Amino acid sequence: MVQVSPGDVQRLFLQAVLSRGILSENLAKVIWKKCVEAVKTADADVDVSYSDRDADWDSFIESVNTSLNDLDFEFKSVQDESSAKRLFAMVNRKDDELAQVATDYNPIEITYFKAVVEQIMLARNESFSVSSLAALREVSAGKEKMNLTKAQAEVLLGSFVANGWLLRSKRGRYSLSSRSLLELLPYLKSTYPDEIVECTICHEIITKGIACKRDNCQTRMHYHCFNAYRRRKTALTCPACTLDWPQDPTDKGLLAVGELAVRNGDDGKRQTRGSPVSDDDEEEEEEEDEPSQKTQAKRPRQRRSQQGKKGKSKKMDRDSEEEEEEEEKEEEEEEKEEEAETTPPPRRRSTRR
Ligand SMILES: [Zn+2]
Ligand SMILES: [Zn+2]
Repeated sequence: MVQVSPGDVQRLFLQAVLSRGILSENLAKVIWKKCVEAVKTADADVDVSYSDRDADWDSFIESVNTSLNDLDFEFKSVQDESSAKRLFAMVNRKDDELAQVATDYNPIEITYFKAVVEQIMLARNESFSVSSLAALREVSAGKEKMNLTKAQAEVLLGSFVANGWLLRSKRGRYSLSSRSLLELLPYLKSTYPDEIVECTICHEIITKGIACKRDNCQTRMHYHCFNAYRRRKTALTCPACTLDWPQDPTDKGLLAVGELAVRNGDDGKRQTRGSPVSDDDEEEEEEEDEPSQKTQAKRPRQRRSQQGKKGKSKKMDRDSEEEEEEEEKEEEEEEKEEEAETTPPPRRRSTRR
């Protein structure tokens, strides 16, 4: 007779979960139930049980994680920022080098993936998203030359979406998926410690939701966390600065985190590490540009704002400037179309952080 033990439920469960990648809480619970049944079938006397009580589910997860502890793995969940559904995945807590992504892509493709993630993480005004134009521009914008054509990059972007690493909005902007927020969190934390923003309510990373409108107020909330917070309150105010808040998360009395925070021209300039992200220091950004970055695209908008300044933009390489201007015209036209379709009226944003 086959010897089975309570530990077999966990073993079966982990195998099933690993083969699926990210999965819904409901599916995870069904798998747990099946695993218990399988072990019971092998030996009815084994002391294992399934229950649909949340507390029992939580303690099962806890026991799974205790057994994974030494391996630096964790069966972890995140609430989807759009659907508010709870999703689970196996996460390597020490993976700050994108090992998960590396199994599906070659080094050039991973370099490109990192570059797109960078534009998402450094996006202005906490929009945590990048337009497809700006994403494609990364093919030639980075310091490392990527042997990728824009057509190849476009296919790759589609593949990042199909494999669940990126989301593509109706408007054509890319943002991080729940899978990325779960599985790539160690990488995001170690690479972008200053850009990661936490939800005031659940303390998880937030890339879509609301922000308090008061200058320098740090309050941020996922939409689902905002809704839960709102239900508990009779008078809705910011928990930190007590500013009166509207009931509607898309009201002008609140700022957006995520795509709704995009303003005209936000994608115009490629963001680079270490450059300020606040609204009023475009000139400073120019000053702080390193020589190696001077051939990167500068938008007409920003260049115009520098006219009359003390020749800061003269260091730009003339040839590349002309090339870029052509490209920029195209991009601007497309951007305008995009904006006309879906953008709410631009809001004045307070300086973040
Ligand atoms: Zn939250
Ligand atoms: Zn506030």
